[in-house]
Amino acid sequence: MFQDLVLSGMRPTGAMHLGHYHGALKNWLTLQNEFPCLFFAADWHALTTHYEDPSVIEQTVWDMFVDWLAVGIDPTKATLFIQSRVPQHAELTVLLSFFAPLAWLERVPTYKDLVERHAEQGRDILTYGFLGYPLMQAADILIYRANRVPVGEDQVSHIELTREIARRFNHLFGREKGFEEKAEAAVKKMGPKKAKLYRALRAKFQEQGDQAALGQAQELVNDVQNLSLGDKERLYGYIEGGGRMILVEPEALLTETPKLLGLDGQKMSKSSGNAIMLRESPEDVAHKIRTMQTDPARVRRTDPGNPEKCPVWNLHLVYSDANTKEWVMQGCTTAGIGCLECKQPVIDAINAELRPIREHAAQYEEDPTLVRNIIQDGCEKASDLATDTMRDVREAMGLNYG
Ligand code: SF4
Repeated sequence: MFQDLVLSGMRPTGAMHLGHYHGALKNWLTLQNEFPCLFFAADWHALTTHYEDPSVIEQTVWDMFVDWLAVGIDPTKATLFIQSRVPQHAELTVLLSFFAPLAWLERVPTYKDLVERHAEQGRDILTYGFLGYPLMQAADILIYRANRVPVGEDQVSHIELTREIARRFNHLFGREKGFEEKAEAAVKKMGPKKAKLYRALRAKFQEQGDQAALGQAQELVNDVQNLSLGDKERLYGYIEGGGRMILVEPEALLTETPKLLGLDGQKMSKSSGNAIMLRESPEDVAHKIRTMQTDPARVRRTDPGNPEKCPVWNLHLVYSDANTKEWVMQGCTTAGIGCLECKQPVIDAINAELRPIREHAAQYEEDPTLVRNIIQDGCEKASDLATDTMRDVREAMGLNYG
Protein backbone atom coordinates (compact mmCIF):
# COMPACT_ATOMS: atom_id res chain seq x y z
CA MET A 1 0.00 0.00 0.00
CA PHE A 2 1.12 3.52 -0.64
CA GLN A 3 2.07 5.84 2.23
CA ASP A 4 -0.42 8.21 3.83
CA LEU A 5 -0.34 11.51 2.04
CA VAL A 6 -2.44 14.64 2.40
CA LEU A 7 -3.03 16.90 -0.57
CA SER A 8 -4.72 20.27 -0.63
CA GLY A 9 -4.62 23.20 -3.01
CA MET A 10 -5.97 26.71 -3.37
CA ARG A 11 -6.65 28.82 -6.38
CA PRO A 12 -4.32 31.80 -6.28
CA THR A 13 -6.37 34.67 -4.91
CA GLY A 14 -3.50 36.78 -3.60
CA ALA A 15 -2.95 37.78 0.00
CA MET A 16 -4.95 35.66 2.44
CA HIS A 17 -7.53 36.89 4.92
CA LEU A 18 -8.79 35.66 8.27
CA GLY A 19 -11.44 33.54 6.55
CA HIS A 20 -8.70 31.55 4.80
CA TYR A 21 -6.75 31.31 8.04
CA HIS A 22 -9.59 29.88 10.13
CA GLY A 23 -11.20 27.95 7.29
CA ALA A 24 -8.15 26.17 5.86
CA LEU A 25 -4.68 27.21 6.95
CA LYS A 26 -5.08 26.38 10.66
CA ASN A 27 -6.16 22.91 9.61
CA TRP A 28 -3.09 22.60 7.37
CA LEU A 29 -0.90 23.55 10.36
CA THR A 30 -2.32 20.60 12.28
CA LEU A 31 -2.13 18.21 9.33
CA GLN A 32 1.52 18.98 8.58
CA ASN A 33 2.39 17.59 12.01
CA GLU A 34 0.42 14.39 11.43
CA PHE A 35 1.07 13.38 7.81
CA PRO A 36 3.34 14.12 4.89
CA CYS A 37 1.51 16.96 3.15
CA LEU A 38 1.47 18.49 -0.31
CA PHE A 39 0.02 22.01 -0.57
CA PHE A 40 -0.18 23.66 -3.97
CA ALA A 41 -1.23 26.80 -5.80
CA ALA A 42 -3.82 25.71 -8.37
CA ASP A 43 -2.92 28.27 -11.03
CA TRP A 44 -4.43 26.30 -13.93
CA HIS A 45 -7.71 26.22 -12.04
CA ALA A 46 -7.64 30.01 -11.91
CA LEU A 47 -7.73 29.96 -15.72
CA THR A 48 -10.91 27.87 -15.84
CA THR A 49 -12.91 30.91 -14.76
CA HIS A 50 -10.57 33.87 -15.39
CA TYR A 51 -8.86 32.86 -18.63
CA GLU A 52 -9.23 36.36 -20.06
CA ASP A 53 -7.02 37.96 -17.42
CA PRO A 54 -4.02 35.74 -16.69
CA SER A 55 -1.85 38.69 -15.66
CA VAL A 56 -3.05 38.51 -12.07
CA ILE A 57 -1.84 34.96 -11.55
CA GLU A 58 1.85 35.69 -10.96
CA GLN A 59 1.45 38.21 -8.15
CA THR A 60 -1.43 36.38 -6.50
CA VAL A 61 0.54 33.13 -6.40
CA TRP A 62 3.53 34.68 -4.62
CA ASP A 63 1.38 36.69 -2.20
CA MET A 64 -0.44 33.53 -1.30
CA PHE A 65 2.77 31.62 -0.62
CA VAL A 66 4.12 34.42 1.60
CA ASP A 67 1.00 34.10 3.75
CA TRP A 68 1.16 30.31 3.88
CA LEU A 69 4.75 30.54 5.13
CA ALA A 70 3.97 33.42 7.47
CA VAL A 71 1.26 31.49 9.31
CA GLY A 72 3.70 28.64 9.90
CA ILE A 73 3.34 26.21 7.01
CA ASP A 74 6.74 24.60 7.31
CA PRO A 75 8.54 23.58 4.11
CA THR A 76 10.52 20.99 6.07
CA LYS A 77 7.25 19.23 6.86
CA ALA A 78 5.06 20.05 3.86
CA THR A 79 5.86 20.28 0.16
CA LEU A 80 4.71 23.58 -1.36
CA PHE A 81 4.47 23.81 -5.12
CA ILE A 82 2.76 25.30 -8.15
CA GLN A 83 0.44 23.10 -10.20
CA SER A 84 1.60 24.29 -13.62
CA ARG A 85 5.26 23.62 -12.74
CA VAL A 86 4.39 19.92 -12.63
CA PRO A 87 3.06 19.43 -16.16
CA GLN A 88 2.30 15.77 -15.47
CA HIS A 89 -1.00 17.04 -13.99
CA ALA A 90 -2.01 17.98 -17.53
CA GLU A 91 -0.88 14.68 -19.01
CA LEU A 92 -2.88 12.70 -16.47
CA THR A 93 -5.93 14.93 -17.02
CA VAL A 94 -5.82 14.12 -20.74
CA LEU A 95 -5.41 10.39 -20.14
CA LEU A 96 -8.28 10.33 -17.63
CA SER A 97 -10.48 12.27 -20.06
CA PHE A 98 -10.52 9.34 -22.49
CA PHE A 99 -12.57 7.18 -20.19
CA ALA A 100 -14.31 9.69 -17.87
CA PRO A 101 -17.99 9.62 -18.87
CA LEU A 102 -19.33 13.06 -19.76
CA ALA A 103 -22.34 12.48 -17.50
CA TRP A 104 -20.08 12.19 -14.45
CA LEU A 105 -18.77 15.69 -15.05
CA GLU A 106 -22.13 17.23 -15.86
CA ARG A 107 -23.67 15.90 -12.66
CA VAL A 108 -21.10 17.54 -10.32
CA PRO A 109 -23.52 19.60 -8.21
CA THR A 110 -21.52 22.83 -8.32
CA TYR A 111 -21.17 22.80 -12.12
CA LYS A 112 -24.53 24.25 -13.15
CA ASP A 113 -24.58 26.65 -10.21
CA LEU A 114 -21.21 28.11 -11.09
CA VAL A 115 -22.02 28.42 -14.79
CA GLU A 116 -25.15 30.38 -13.88
CA ARG A 117 -23.44 32.51 -11.26
CA HIS A 118 -20.66 33.50 -13.65
CA ALA A 119 -23.18 34.17 -16.44
CA GLU A 120 -24.93 36.65 -14.12
CA GLN A 121 -21.60 38.48 -13.84
CA GLY A 122 -21.31 38.51 -17.64
CA ARG A 123 -18.66 35.82 -17.78
CA ASP A 124 -19.03 32.89 -20.15
CA ILE A 125 -17.54 29.74 -18.66
CA LEU A 126 -19.37 27.24 -20.82
CA THR A 127 -16.00 25.94 -21.94
CA TYR A 128 -14.38 22.55 -22.32
CA GLY A 129 -11.85 23.52 -19.63
CA PHE A 130 -14.47 24.48 -17.08
CA LEU A 131 -16.52 21.34 -17.61
CA GLY A 132 -13.31 19.39 -17.18
CA TYR A 133 -12.07 21.13 -14.05
CA PRO A 134 -13.30 18.38 -11.66
CA LEU A 135 -11.33 15.95 -13.79
CA MET A 136 -8.22 18.09 -13.43
CA GLN A 137 -8.90 18.16 -9.69
CA ALA A 138 -9.06 14.37 -9.77
CA ALA A 139 -5.72 14.29 -11.61
CA ASP A 140 -4.24 16.72 -9.02
CA ILE A 141 -5.02 14.19 -6.31
CA LEU A 142 -4.42 10.93 -8.16
CA ILE A 143 -1.05 11.91 -9.55
CA TYR A 144 0.37 11.89 -6.00
CA ARG A 145 -1.66 8.88 -4.89
CA ALA A 146 -2.78 11.12 -2.03
CA ASN A 147 -5.19 9.21 0.18
CA ARG A 148 -6.45 12.09 2.33
CA VAL A 149 -7.91 15.32 1.05
CA PRO A 150 -9.18 17.91 3.53
CA VAL A 151 -12.45 19.33 2.21
CA GLY A 152 -15.61 21.04 3.31
CA GLU A 153 -19.04 19.44 2.90
CA ASP A 154 -19.54 21.15 -0.50
CA GLN A 155 -16.46 19.47 -1.99
CA VAL A 156 -17.29 15.89 -1.01
CA SER A 157 -18.87 15.19 -4.41
CA HIS A 158 -15.56 16.09 -6.07
CA ILE A 159 -13.74 13.53 -3.95
CA GLU A 160 -16.41 10.96 -4.78
CA LEU A 161 -15.84 11.66 -8.48
CA THR A 162 -12.09 11.22 -7.96
CA ARG A 163 -12.71 7.87 -6.27
CA GLU A 164 -14.89 6.74 -9.17
CA ILE A 165 -12.25 7.77 -11.70
CA ALA A 166 -9.54 5.89 -9.78
CA ARG A 167 -11.75 2.80 -9.50
CA ARG A 168 -12.56 2.90 -13.20
CA PHE A 169 -8.90 3.34 -14.09
CA ASN A 170 -7.81 0.41 -11.91
CA HIS A 171 -10.61 -1.72 -13.30
CA LEU A 172 -9.79 -0.90 -16.93
CA PHE A 173 -6.01 -0.86 -16.77
CA GLY A 174 -5.00 -2.59 -13.52
CA ARG A 175 -5.54 -5.97 -15.11
CA GLU A 176 -2.10 -6.42 -16.55
CA LYS A 177 -1.42 -9.36 -18.85
CA GLY A 178 -0.79 -12.52 -16.85
CA PHE A 179 -1.91 -10.85 -13.59
CA GLU A 180 -2.91 -14.11 -11.90
CA GLU A 181 0.39 -15.82 -12.76
CA LYS A 182 2.41 -12.81 -11.60
CA ALA A 183 0.39 -12.62 -8.37
CA GLU A 184 0.89 -16.36 -7.74
CA ALA A 185 4.63 -15.97 -8.34
CA ALA A 186 4.66 -13.11 -5.82
CA VAL A 187 2.82 -15.28 -3.27
CA LYS A 188 5.57 -17.90 -3.58
CA LYS A 189 8.23 -15.24 -2.97
CA MET A 190 6.71 -14.68 0.50
CA GLY A 191 8.07 -18.05 1.70
CA PRO A 192 5.97 -21.16 2.46
CA LYS A 193 4.67 -20.12 5.91
CA LYS A 194 3.60 -16.62 4.96
CA ALA A 195 2.26 -17.79 1.60
CA LYS A 196 0.04 -20.32 3.37
CA LEU A 197 -1.25 -17.66 5.77
CA TYR A 198 -1.81 -15.23 2.88
CA ARG A 199 -3.87 -17.82 0.96
CA ALA A 200 -5.94 -18.63 4.07
CA LEU A 201 -6.69 -14.94 4.77
CA ARG A 202 -7.47 -14.30 1.08
CA ALA A 203 -9.93 -17.20 1.04
CA LYS A 204 -11.53 -16.01 4.29
CA PHE A 205 -12.05 -12.54 2.86
CA GLN A 206 -13.26 -13.70 -0.54
CA GLU A 207 -15.55 -16.44 0.76
CA GLN A 208 -16.89 -14.81 3.93
CA GLY A 209 -16.25 -11.10 3.32
CA ASP A 210 -14.20 -11.03 6.53
CA GLN A 211 -12.83 -7.47 6.77
CA ALA A 212 -10.43 -8.38 9.59
CA ALA A 213 -8.87 -11.02 7.34
CA LEU A 214 -8.47 -8.37 4.62
CA GLY A 215 -6.63 -6.10 7.07
CA GLN A 216 -4.40 -8.91 8.31
CA ALA A 217 -3.52 -9.98 4.78
CA GLN A 218 -2.62 -6.39 3.86
CA GLU A 219 -0.44 -6.11 6.95
CA LEU A 220 1.23 -9.40 6.13
CA VAL A 221 2.12 -8.19 2.62
CA ASN A 222 3.28 -4.87 4.00
CA ASP A 223 5.71 -6.58 6.37
CA VAL A 224 7.39 -8.81 3.78
CA GLN A 225 10.79 -7.30 3.02
CA ASN A 226 11.89 -9.06 -0.16
CA LEU A 227 8.97 -7.99 -2.41
CA SER A 228 9.18 -5.24 -5.02
CA LEU A 229 6.60 -2.43 -4.86
CA GLY A 230 4.97 -3.86 -8.02
CA ASP A 231 4.63 -7.32 -6.42
CA LYS A 232 3.19 -5.81 -3.24
CA GLU A 233 0.56 -3.93 -5.27
CA ARG A 234 -0.31 -7.16 -7.12
CA LEU A 235 -0.73 -8.98 -3.82
CA TYR A 236 -2.96 -6.25 -2.38
CA GLY A 237 -5.12 -6.41 -5.51
CA TYR A 238 -5.11 -10.23 -5.52
CA ILE A 239 -6.62 -10.38 -2.00
CA GLU A 240 -9.73 -8.61 -3.21
CA GLY A 241 -9.79 -10.50 -6.47
CA GLY A 242 -9.14 -7.41 -8.58
CA GLY A 243 -6.11 -6.30 -10.49
CA ARG A 244 -3.23 -4.14 -9.49
CA MET A 245 -4.01 -0.87 -7.74
CA ILE A 246 -2.30 1.85 -9.75
CA LEU A 247 -4.28 4.89 -8.66
CA VAL A 248 -5.35 5.31 -5.04
CA GLU A 249 -8.93 6.17 -4.07
CA PRO A 250 -8.69 9.17 -1.73
CA GLU A 251 -10.76 9.74 1.40
CA ALA A 252 -12.37 13.09 2.10
CA LEU A 253 -10.96 14.45 5.34
CA LEU A 254 -13.98 16.33 6.58
CA THR A 255 -12.98 19.09 8.91
CA GLU A 256 -15.13 21.20 11.17
CA THR A 257 -13.81 24.72 10.97
CA PRO A 258 -15.32 27.79 12.60
CA LYS A 259 -17.16 29.94 10.09
CA LEU A 260 -15.50 33.30 10.30
CA LEU A 261 -17.79 35.71 8.48
CA GLY A 262 -16.79 39.05 7.04
CA LEU A 263 -17.23 42.52 8.53
CA ASP A 264 -20.76 42.70 7.13
CA GLY A 265 -21.81 39.26 8.36
CA GLN A 266 -21.51 37.73 4.85
CA LYS A 267 -18.91 35.24 3.60
CA MET A 268 -15.49 36.87 3.94
CA SER A 269 -13.88 37.72 0.61
CA LYS A 270 -11.47 40.36 -0.56
CA SER A 271 -13.66 41.35 -3.52
CA SER A 272 -16.63 42.00 -1.22
CA GLY A 273 -14.54 44.50 0.78
CA ASN A 274 -15.48 42.76 4.06
CA ALA A 275 -12.17 41.05 4.81
CA ILE A 276 -9.36 41.48 7.32
CA MET A 277 -6.11 40.51 5.64
CA LEU A 278 -3.43 38.56 7.47
CA ARG A 279 -0.81 41.25 6.93
CA GLU A 280 -3.14 44.17 7.71
CA SER A 281 -1.64 46.80 10.07
CA PRO A 282 -2.93 46.97 13.68
CA GLU A 283 -4.33 50.44 12.97
CA ASP A 284 -6.27 49.24 9.93
CA VAL A 285 -7.63 46.25 11.83
CA ALA A 286 -8.82 48.56 14.63
CA HIS A 287 -10.35 51.00 12.13
CA LYS A 288 -12.18 48.28 10.21
CA ILE A 289 -13.68 46.78 13.34
CA ARG A 290 -14.57 50.12 14.92
CA THR A 291 -16.50 51.06 11.79
CA MET A 292 -18.24 47.69 11.46
CA GLN A 293 -22.00 47.72 11.35
CA THR A 294 -23.75 46.49 14.51
CA ASP A 295 -27.29 45.54 15.46
CA PRO A 296 -29.38 48.30 13.77
CA ALA A 297 -31.58 48.42 16.91
CA ARG A 298 -28.74 50.12 18.80
CA VAL A 299 -29.22 53.58 17.41
CA ARG A 300 -28.34 55.29 20.69
CA ARG A 301 -25.96 54.08 23.38
CA THR A 302 -28.96 53.55 25.66
CA ASP A 303 -30.82 51.27 23.19
CA PRO A 304 -30.50 47.58 24.04
CA GLY A 305 -29.44 45.23 21.24
CA ASN A 306 -29.26 41.59 20.32
CA PRO A 307 -25.82 40.07 19.61
CA GLU A 308 -27.41 37.43 17.36
CA LYS A 309 -28.25 40.24 14.94
CA CYS A 310 -24.78 41.74 15.00
CA PRO A 311 -21.78 40.66 12.87
CA VAL A 312 -19.42 41.58 15.73
CA TRP A 313 -20.90 38.70 17.70
CA ASN A 314 -19.62 36.28 15.07
CA LEU A 315 -16.10 37.52 15.82
CA HIS A 316 -16.66 37.09 19.56
CA LEU A 317 -17.75 33.51 18.92
CA VAL A 318 -14.37 32.79 17.36
CA TYR A 319 -12.11 34.99 19.48
CA SER A 320 -13.63 35.39 22.93
CA ASP A 321 -13.71 33.14 25.98
CA ALA A 322 -16.90 32.24 27.85
CA ASN A 323 -16.63 35.16 30.29
CA THR A 324 -16.22 37.74 27.56
CA LYS A 325 -19.14 36.29 25.59
CA GLU A 326 -21.27 36.42 28.73
CA TRP A 327 -20.18 40.06 29.25
CA VAL A 328 -21.20 40.90 25.65
CA MET A 329 -24.55 39.10 25.87
CA GLN A 330 -25.42 40.75 29.16
CA GLY A 331 -24.06 44.20 28.29
CA CYS A 332 -25.61 44.36 24.81
CA THR A 333 -29.10 43.21 25.76
CA THR A 334 -29.26 45.65 28.70
CA ALA A 335 -27.43 48.52 27.00
CA GLY A 336 -24.83 48.16 29.76
CA ILE A 337 -21.95 48.46 27.29
CA GLY A 338 -21.41 50.51 24.17
CA CYS A 339 -20.55 49.00 20.80
CA LEU A 340 -17.01 50.43 20.76
CA GLU A 341 -16.39 48.94 24.17
CA CYS A 342 -17.74 45.60 22.95
CA LYS A 343 -15.47 45.63 19.90
CA GLN A 344 -12.23 46.26 21.79
CA PRO A 345 -11.60 42.65 22.97
CA VAL A 346 -12.03 41.49 19.35
CA ILE A 347 -9.58 44.12 18.07
CA ASP A 348 -7.07 43.04 20.71
CA ALA A 349 -7.50 39.33 19.98
CA ILE A 350 -7.19 39.71 16.21
CA ASN A 351 -4.13 41.92 16.51
CA ALA A 352 -2.55 39.44 18.93
CA GLU A 353 -3.21 36.65 16.44
CA LEU A 354 -1.83 38.62 13.50
CA ARG A 355 1.28 40.02 15.21
CA PRO A 356 3.51 36.93 14.74
CA ILE A 357 2.12 36.41 11.22
CA ARG A 358 3.08 39.98 10.20
CA GLU A 359 6.53 39.58 11.74
CA HIS A 360 7.10 36.25 10.05
CA ALA A 361 5.89 37.60 6.68
CA ALA A 362 8.40 40.47 6.81
CA GLN A 363 11.40 38.19 6.14
CA TYR A 364 9.72 36.79 3.02
CA GLU A 365 8.67 40.24 1.79
CA GLU A 366 12.22 41.50 2.21
CA ASP A 367 13.79 38.53 0.44
CA PRO A 368 11.50 37.14 -2.29
CA THR A 369 14.21 34.69 -3.41
CA LEU A 370 13.63 32.83 -0.15
CA VAL A 371 10.09 32.04 -1.23
CA ARG A 372 11.14 31.29 -4.83
CA ASN A 373 13.72 28.78 -3.59
CA ILE A 374 11.29 27.03 -1.24
CA ILE A 375 8.77 26.66 -4.06
CA GLN A 376 11.40 25.56 -6.58
CA ASP A 377 12.43 22.83 -4.17
CA GLY A 378 8.79 21.83 -3.59
CA CYS A 379 8.09 21.68 -7.34
CA GLU A 380 11.01 19.30 -7.79
CA LYS A 381 9.80 17.02 -4.99
CA ALA A 382 6.26 17.02 -6.36
CA SER A 383 7.57 16.32 -9.84
CA ASP A 384 9.49 13.25 -8.60
CA LEU A 385 6.32 11.80 -7.08
CA ALA A 386 4.31 12.59 -10.21
CA THR A 387 6.94 10.95 -12.39
CA ASP A 388 6.61 7.67 -10.46
CA THR A 389 2.84 7.61 -10.89
CA MET A 390 2.97 8.54 -14.58
CA ARG A 391 5.44 5.74 -15.28
CA ASP A 392 2.90 3.23 -13.92
CA VAL A 393 -0.02 4.96 -15.65
CA ARG A 394 1.71 5.01 -19.05
CA GLU A 395 2.74 1.40 -18.68
CA ALA A 396 -0.78 0.34 -17.69
CA MET A 397 -2.28 2.24 -20.64
CA GLY A 398 0.08 0.67 -23.13
CA LEU A 399 2.01 3.89 -23.77
CA ASN A 400 5.37 2.80 -22.49
CA TYR A 401 6.64 1.36 -25.76
CA GLY A 402 9.98 1.78 -27.47
S1 SF4 B 1 -22.84 45.73 21.91
FE1 SF4 B 1 -21.59 44.37 20.70
S2 SF4 B 1 -22.94 42.71 20.07
FE2 SF4 B 1 -24.24 44.40 20.77
S3 SF4 B 1 -24.74 45.51 18.90
FE3 SF4 B 1 -22.94 46.49 19.81
S4 SF4 B 1 -21.20 45.52 18.83
FE4 SF4 B 1 -22.98 44.24 18.47
